[in-house]
Amino acid sequence: MIEIAPTDRVFILTGAGISAESGLPTFRGEGGIWRQRRAEEIATPGAWKRDPHFVWEFYSMRRRKASEVKPNPGHAALAALEAAIGDRLFLCTQNVDNLHENAGSRNVIHMHGELFKSRCESCAQPPFDDAQTYEPPATLPRCPCGALIRPHICWFGEVPFHMDRVRRGLGECTVFIAVGTSGVVEPAASFAAHARAGAQARTFYVGPEEPANRSSFDQLFLGKSGEILPKLFRAL
Ligand code: NAD
Repeated sequence: MIEIAPTDRVFILTGAGISAESGLPTFRGEGGIWRQRRAEEIATPGAWKRDPHFVWEFYSMRRRKASEVKPNPGHAALAALEAAIGDRLFLCTQNVDNLHENAGSRNVIHMHGELFKSRCESCAQPPFDDAQTYEPPATLPRCPCGALIRPHICWFGEVPFHMDRVRRGLGECTVFIAVGTSGVVEPAASFAAHARAGAQARTFYVGPEEPANRSSFDQLFLGKSGEILPKLFRAL
């Protein structure tokens, strides 16, 4: 159990693991391979340049899958925590699905983008809601400026979104909890260490196995997030 005092500020970082019990495969887990290619080979600016249709097929498949699943008790527990402590919770996800929002979370920072948004690959028009799928021989969508519309996703080698707000949240938090993230993908893998260096946050990990950045955590809660999170918090 993690006790949250009235003065605590809580930073929660979620990864693919929190959506696993909803039926979305994790990044490196079984089912994380698509047409014999690893996501690392598809989710890159180079892959987009070489074959945008192929990349759109991959994200169309993910849009289809993500629209078929529902939030699980782990997502619900984080929505309930927000209802209890309001803006003292900073919820940052590496996930591009919308399961946190569907569970009732209102303030969610999507540092790796959002599956159901698209944007122009070239001009500065803001991202827009888009649940379309683009299967061959569909023509790929274009912006009025003429350039291709791309998924609003942070690909490998690109800079994650909202990093100023994230850094501020890490500097202020007194409790840091990572959930279902392997601790391999930077910069998120260093967040626990930053939280410790900032306001000397207590740091916790929730997931079935030790993460690669295990030494950054004071305590691990080993198990499925859908089983652990609903019983984890006590807001004082
Ligand atoms: P990862 O695949 O590297 O690690 C997933 C982690 O989740 C593992 O450590 C695993 O032990 C853990 N896990 C598995 N089942 C779990 C459960 N029931 N409860 C809690 N934890 C569980 O994922 P990552 O660290 O988030 O990798 C980062 C990248 O994966 C991000 O860029 C993210 O955008 C991308 N991704 C997102 C989704 C999604 O949006 N749902 C899905 C796959 C990958």
